[in-house]
Amino acid sequence: GSFQGLGLSSPTYKAIMRMGYKVPTPIQRKTIPTIMEGQDMVAMARTGSGKTAAFLIPMCERLKSHSTSVGFRGVVLSPTRELAMQTAKFARQLSKFNDLRCCLLVGGQGMEAQFEHLANNPDMVIATPGRLMHHILEAELSLSRVEILVFDEADRLFELGFAEQLQKILDATPSSRQCLLFSATLPAQLVSFSRAGIKDPAFIRL
Ligand code: AMP
Repeated sequence: GSFQGLGLSSPTYKAIMRMGYKVPTPIQRKTIPTIMEGQDMVAMARTGSGKTAAFLIPMCERLKSHSTSVGFRGVVLSPTRELAMQTAKFARQLSKFNDLRCCLLVGGQGMEAQFEHLANNPDMVIATPGRLMHHILEAELSLSRVEILVFDEADRLFELGFAEQLQKILDATPSSRQCLLFSATLPAQLVSFSRAGIKDPAFIRL
């Protein structure tokens, strides 16, 4: 299997080639077609497996290009600032040729600068749950246009005690959104969360 066989658009394909990737990793081969079809997913994937691109590539494909209508359409939730920053950098590289705007919302940075970034009408927000909730509660940030919501390293998100915030974020998105949960492990808490919030997900494991 090659990236060419996955039916990607030329801007995304070009960005992947620019990054020097030759073939999709096994997890990418499984997730990319299913996510592009719009299905919800629970994927068991560890760091190092290429899991970030496994959701970012099809997410870029679903969002296609910059939308001038108000409200971001994609959200990635990361357990830590460092992971969110890496993911945002990666998302910018992957969406380089289809002109998607990515916005990073993490703690430890001023709210004012983040308001400015949000005013630039991003297509995709990469955030830690605490800072995203802060924007929702303090600045009435709306998630009403969200079409794709990703919980990255979901087991760590729950371990860090974000359960209540994750539920609130999920509830703030339209019920029609596509929900993707990536996790190295699937503890009971995650299984019940995904049963309640995720519609008939595809289960992917290596
Ligand atoms: P991750 O599992 O997302 O932390 O990715 C681990 C590393 O693999 C990162 O440095 C990625 O840039 C790299 N990577 C992801 N997908 C591919 C691929 N298809 N070919 C080569 N490297 C990749």
